[in-house]
Amino acid sequence: MKILNDLTLDELKILMESLGEKSFRAGQIFRALSLGKSISEITELSLPLRQKLTEIYVDTPVKLIKKLVSKDGTEKYLLALYDGNVVEGVYMKNRYGNTECLSTQVGCRMGCKFCASTIGGLVRNLTAGEMYATVCLINKINGGTLDKRAVTNIVLMGSGEPFDNYDETVKFLRLVSCKDGLNVSLRNISLSTCGLVPEMIKFAEEGLPVNLTVSLHQPFNDKRKHLMPIAKAYSIEQILSACDNYFNKTGRRYIFEYSLVKGENDDRQSADELIKILKGKPCHVNIIRLNEVKENGLKATTEKEAYAFASYLENAGLSATVRRLNGADIDGACGQLRRSYLDN
Ligand code: SAH
Repeated sequence: MKILNDLTLDELKILMESLGEKSFRAGQIFRALSLGKSISEITELSLPLRQKLTEIYVDTPVKLIKKLVSKDGTEKYLLALYDGNVVEGVYMKNRYGNTECLSTQVGCRMGCKFCASTIGGLVRNLTAGEMYATVCLINKINGGTLDKRAVTNIVLMGSGEPFDNYDETVKFLRLVSCKDGLNVSLRNISLSTCGLVPEMIKFAEEGLPVNLTVSLHQPFNDKRKHLMPIAKAYSIEQILSACDNYFNKTGRRYIFEYSLVKGENDDRQSADELIKILKGKPCHVNIIRLNEVKENGLKATTEKEAYAFASYLENAGLSATVRRLNGADIDGACGQLRRSYLDN
């Protein structure tokens, strides 16, 4: 089966033409799907057209299985794809808007030592339309429409490595920012990568000015290999040069994520090295406290130490903040909820 949500407005127009339908139907379909409707719910279309479409396309690509609400208000969703695979999504209410954390793959093959998403490896990529359908569904669940969006910001920080699913991720960014659909501003979207350098360079040419975020987690190449296998393929120097290229091409400051793991990357030496390699660069460092995952045994640095680490960087002239720990009581870390679902 195919996924209708994968089609852009122009592709829908071509489809309507090929089915002998008027091209304005394309806009009706795109808007209805953007509102989170299934094909069978698009009552503006004739029943025969809906039936014709559901013979080729999945009626509902993404369904809600379960919703958890944290004490801090963070909502976490377990979502089923049409083939029975399960992904998760997070919805966080902030002062400036509401952020959805989106998955780009079922599982992940990057193997980062601290991350729950990668434990069972990569199952499959999400298509652009599945990612878009997820945003549309979460927007709908939270009472959003096209004029009044409940999802105003998106972070590609759920399960998966967006640049390991490059083409679909790029197409998703075009779908979600399309004026005729949800129209989420690219400036409100952050894409997080573990540092796939060739894709970082390619992405700078796409004309998609999102916030580029890189999971650094270690300023020393040899130690980084121990935490993140991708470091064996690309060095920190190559990552920094790809980041500078992104800044030169897009004018957008970039962000580094640094999840503090007790005894691995939270010492004075690591902080000094971070300062050495990042000082003067147009970047921000997001200090994250590790969400402990039972499968790997790694421990989080305390909150107090995390703030001290960030202040140390700040005092040396870097821009650094500690990220709020969202939804820790509801399996908030990447892939944790899916893992506990699979375990049961
Ligand atoms: N594949 C992308 C997106 C991953 S999720 C990437 O690597 O950037 C977003 C961030 O959460 C990444 O920085 C990731 O390294 C981090 N992360 C994953 N598991 C974590 C955990 N258990 N605790 C803290 N941060 C974690």
